[in-house]
Amino acid sequence: MQATAENPNQRLVEIKSQMAAAAKVANRDARHVTLIAVSKTRTIEEIEPLIASGQHVFGENRIQEAAGKWPEMKARHADIQLHLIGQLQSNKAQEAVLLFDVIHSLDRPSLVTALGKAMRDQGRHIPCFIQVNIGAEDQKGGCDIDALPEMLELAKNENIKIAGLMCLPPAEVEPAPFFALLENLAARHGLTGLSMGMSGDFETAIMLGATHIRIGTALFGERV
Ligand SMILES: *Cc1c(COP(=O)(O)O)cnc(C)c1O
Repeated sequence: MQATAENPNQRLVEIKSQMAAAAKVANRDARHVTLIAVSKTRTIEEIEPLIASGQHVFGENRIQEAAGKWPEMKARHADIQLHLIGQLQSNKAQEAVLLFDVIHSLDRPSLVTALGKAMRDQGRHIPCFIQVNIGAEDQKGGCDIDALPEMLELAKNENIKIAGLMCLPPAEVEPAPFFALLENLAARHGLTGLSMGMSGDFETAIMLGATHIRIGTALFGERV
């Protein structure tokens, strides 16, 4: 997606109207779609203007980077909601629970166990999405579709609230069938949240039921 507006605040307005248009086509309420502004690699100076214009939901993919910039911004702005969208090592589970408000990358049993313990230790229970390797790609993160029932059972035992499913469809191919499959899997398991859709395909994702879209480039410009 080529952004035409000059700065992130203008692009935010454009994206919101594209979201509304996509929701309308699908006869959905755009208020049921959360825009996660993916701020990885962006500086505090780039992020602050977006907060000032009302964007409060952000996504980061690395614990280290998020720990370096978000505690001070969270201290300044009480209503920030920070989402972890990148892979998480089990030995960083405690730090993730401390720093983030939602985790989208629950992708294996050992991580469910580690997060369950971290949440109990801290008395802080944050919702998680299970990331599904929707295209069954060798190099991609996410659990296999077949492993989903086991993951859900384990999360229940660990008292982790599952908000829904997340996916990154294979690159370079039409994403719609993968979004539709994720929606189908979620419905089959009685889950309502769908974290799917990025800069290049968020409108398609919204039409197919996305509740959380993760937008970096279309908002901030190309990452360097
Ligand atoms: C970087 C990233 C995004 C945002 O991608 P853009 O194409 O820049 O919008 C979304 N989801 C995940 C998991 C990411 O790592």
